[in-house]
Amino acid sequence: MSVAQPQPKVQVPDIAAQVTYAMRQMGISPIPRNYELFYEAYIGSNPKLTRELAALGSRATQDELDAIGAQYFSQHQVNMVDGAHSRIVGELESLVTLLRQEHSSLESYNKLLGETYSRITSKSASSADLLHNAISLLSDATGSKMERGKVTMDGVEAKSREMEDIRKELDEYKKIANTDSLTRLHNRRAFDDRLAAIYDSPLGRTTTTLIIADIDNFKKINDTFGHPVGDKILATVANVIKSNLRKDVFVARTGGEEFAVILEGSSSEDAMIVAERVRRSLEATPFRNSKTGVNYGPVTLSLGLCLASEGDSPQDLYQKSDVALYCAKSNGRNRSVTYEDGMKKELSKSWLLYKK
Ligand code: GH3
Ligand code: MG
Ligand code: MG
Repeated sequence: MSVAQPQPKVQVPDIAAQVTYAMRQMGISPIPRNYELFYEAYIGSNPKLTRELAALGSRATQDELDAIGAQYFSQHQVNMVDGAHSRIVGELESLVTLLRQEHSSLESYNKLLGETYSRITSKSASSADLLHNAISLLSDATGSKMERGKVTMDGVEAKSREMEDIRKELDEYKKIANTDSLTRLHNRRAFDDRLAAIYDSPLGRTTTTLIIADIDNFKKINDTFGHPVGDKILATVANVIKSNLRKDVFVARTGGEEFAVILEGSSSEDAMIVAERVRRSLEATPFRNSKTGVNYGPVTLSLGLCLASEGDSPQDLYQKSDVALYCAKSNGRNRSVTYEDGMKKELSKSWLLYKK
């Protein structure tokens, strides 16, 4: 039976203590990267490094030590990554701050960026992974932002299409509400609005004339040929009036067989020319039924004109045009009369006779 021999005690050099002692002697800061440098020098793995470090003597500055470290250690690479890392962190910080100021739809983007930021600033992240993480997370964040941006844009487009449809519908309703269904001209409501608007700009009044046109003896036409024929005649008269005016001139059917024209940008003489053109045109329009050969005509108009500057208000202007119209009726119908000072709505004897 063998007896175990006592083992000789091996003297293991306390490298750590010796490195620390040397560093203290040379006045080197006891920080990990300096320790790493002196450890390498002590164990002599790189004689060149040992020589350079020794050459610094006891006056080595931290910059000189770092320069040697950067030259011989892979930490040099790490430092470069760390530099890029801190620049990215800086960029991200300002980006996150900027985006956080923008509340709207960027909340989740912020969250992603926030995650990115915390992951790459995490102590546990290894330098080698930092750039990779930053790039992949940022591209994910940006990708989903772009996706969401597209969704938002689609949403905005859909909403604006809806708004456009609603606007069109409202326009249509407004048009219906302001249109006379028989003649497709503006109705009384639209006329009142338009006339009121003329009085919103006093300058416009000096070049605006209101013309009121009333079909002569229309009751007789209705009585003779029936109401449906009367309706057709009304529509034809509307067309004749419209076709004798510029497209932009406002025409309305203001009552049963009464029409109104608001003629802007013209003198009272011009207005008379227009009124007469309409009147003559209607007078010359045949109203013969092609099937039965019955002649409903002639159909004529009496017209009363008044310059807007003669009327103190829309109502006053309308009344004065109406006075002129009555004057046209009382003077034999199928004529145009411009309002003049002192004109009164007095029915002359001849008009009463003519009316029967
Ligand atoms: P005056 O020359 O004095 O204007 O005579 P008038 O017969 O045209 O005038 P009055 O006011 O006596 O008669 C107007 C007629 O217009 C009475 C009514 O039957 C007719 N009328 C009003 N609106 C319509 C309508 O929408 N369709 C038809 N067919 N007739 C209408
Ligand atoms: Mg009439
Ligand atoms: Mg009438």
